[in-house]
Amino acid sequence: MQYIDNVIFLILLVAGFGLFAKSLKELYRNIKLGREINRTDRRSERWAIMTRVALGQSKMVKRPIAGILHIFVYVGFVIINIELLEIIIDGIFGTHRFLQSILGDSVYSFFTGALEVLAALVVLAVVVFFIRRNFYGVKRLTMKELFGWPKQDANWILIIEFSLMVAFFTMNGADYYSDSARFGSNFPISKYLFPFFQNFSLETLHIIEKSAWWFHFVGILFFMNYLYYSKHLHIILAFPNTWFANLEKKGKFNNLDSVTKEIKLMMDPNADPYAAPAEGETEVPAKFGAEDIFDLNQHQLMSAYSCTECGRCTSVCPANITGKKLSPRLIMMKTRDRLEEVGKNLNKNGGKFVDDGKKLLNDYITKEELWACTTCNACVEACPVLIDPLSIIFEMRRFLVMEQSAAPTELNLMMTNVENNAAPWQYNQADRLNWANDN
Ligand code: SF4
Ligand code: SF4
Repeated sequence: MQYIDNVIFLILLVAGFGLFAKSLKELYRNIKLGREINRTDRRSERWAIMTRVALGQSKMVKRPIAGILHIFVYVGFVIINIELLEIIIDGIFGTHRFLQSILGDSVYSFFTGALEVLAALVVLAVVVFFIRRNFYGVKRLTMKELFGWPKQDANWILIIEFSLMVAFFTMNGADYYSDSARFGSNFPISKYLFPFFQNFSLETLHIIEKSAWWFHFVGILFFMNYLYYSKHLHIILAFPNTWFANLEKKGKFNNLDSVTKEIKLMMDPNADPYAAPAEGETEVPAKFGAEDIFDLNQHQLMSAYSCTECGRCTSVCPANITGKKLSPRLIMMKTRDRLEEVGKNLNKNGGKFVDDGKKLLNDYITKEELWACTTCNACVEACPVLIDPLSIIFEMRRFLVMEQSAAPTELNLMMTNVENNAAPWQYNQADRLNWANDN
């Protein structure tokens, strides 16, 4: 019987990690669909930012209550999963609490005690988050754009985390009551949670312990594989996303070398239009701006997968606040939706993309949304994982203006004026000082 258990365990373990590896491979392939971008400069600064923002969650605590609870969940959940190591060893070799024999009673006692305290904090945080998300009415968490799958996803992950913690306590509680002499006070919380266990027979307690152990193990594998389909992918991607973040000053215009060169040629009568490109100067791009996900860069695509759908960006967006049809969170969610659609297309067609007649522009993100943006950068500043929704808006606007000449009328008028009058206004340069005339 023990032998069968070990075999089943091994099969589940290999299948769980195998599926997860397959998802990671697909994720990597999808991100690589974007344009290459070189963000490997200023490495020490990048490590520091990643440590501070992704690991230290420095931007999360700007909203302290949510930030601290999020740290409980994050730290608690990650550390508790160290226990997975013990589960794997016990599962493969049929041992019971293997680490106790390695660490000794007192260190192991401290270890399990600390895990229980962390697990209690995780339970506290997920319960508060669930109430806050579903009953408390925080505006950014109850907006229409989250109806359907995004809301279900957020709730499912809280339910899974809660269930895993309950299984963890149940397993410990059953162990405590079946062999309290051995486990002493190893389990400072679970020993009080299940006082009725003391009435159960040893056999029943072993069944409860084993069932909770299996539930915990299968639950962790399920959680790991669920990540790829969930906004909770940020647990992993927050790290590379912050490392590869744009380190330039916010608002710095991303000029195209080829366009700058054209303008310089126009302004300089002595310029040689046939001069060889200067060192480091990029070629004229095949397409200006972005119409679909293939035109965005790889960091923008990674950001779409990293978005936590927290809505901090949307809650500070002046366009959204004043009722315009723009939500920076939705820009990221739609980019991910389109990216996932392209990914499925690749899977279906043996890795080759077959034109589906759709584009990110218009089929997912409308012109109205794009032109509602004031380019204020408030969303970029607010994002806890250094996502830049504005950069996507900006590239899509660039496509509309430079590839389709489809800027709004007011903007076209302004650009014509700049071209003809060297000023945004609709009158001749010679008339500029007319305002100073007496009549
Ligand atoms: S940059 Fe655009 S999308 Fe971002 S907050 Fe400002 S107006 Fe909103
Ligand atoms: S872009 Fe950033 S701030 Fe906006 S919803 Fe996603 S993670 Fe939150």
